[in-house]
Amino acid sequence: MSFKRLRKKSSLTYRPAGTSPVRRGSLRFTVRAWSVRHARALEWLYRRFAGVLLKLHGLFARIGYQRVERPVLAVEKRVKGVLFDCRMCGQCVLSDTGMSCPMNCPKSLRNGPCGGVRANGHCEVEPDMPCVWVEAWKGSRAMRDGDAILRVQPALDQSLRGSSAWLRATAMSAAAKASSGGPV
Ligand code: SF4
Repeated sequence: MSFKRLRKKSSLTYRPAGTSPVRRGSLRFTVRAWSVRHARALEWLYRRFAGVLLKLHGLFARIGYQRVERPVLAVEKRVKGVLFDCRMCGQCVLSDTGMSCPMNCPKSLRNGPCGGVRANGHCEVEPDMPCVWVEAWKGSRAMRDGDAILRVQPALDQSLRGSSAWLRATAMSAAAKASSGGPV
């Protein structure tokens, strides 16, 4: 390959530091910041909502979880997309991360920030974006179960991407209740 072509190719792949490869609307950041600021209220709301879903477990089981997934997924995607810029990883950890979605980290880090957080608390890859983990810490301090942020999250199961985390959490809670001998 000629030097000229090589230089042209490398200028396409190389991005100097300080430029953001991803353009996200500032409205996304604004809503995400609102959710983090209201982490305690959202935690309370989600607990009530999870309780309602658990009550519906019998119905879901009768109809079939697979059948109810489509409509539930549509609502989950819309609601969490607006509030958290959700990436539908299928294994939601918002309750452990101060209502700041870790999948918005360009490195998809689910166990804390990398070493590149800027002095102003922004992301090294997307300089316009506050680090999701700096936000997560802020949100967690407001939450009743905020120390859950210290839990080590397991590796992401990529096969669950695009599935409903709400239904998964419901089925898991129902199974845990059943195994402890409680009524489901
Ligand atoms: S942790 Fe996963 S399911 Fe929860 S908001 Fe983020 S991408 Fe969506």
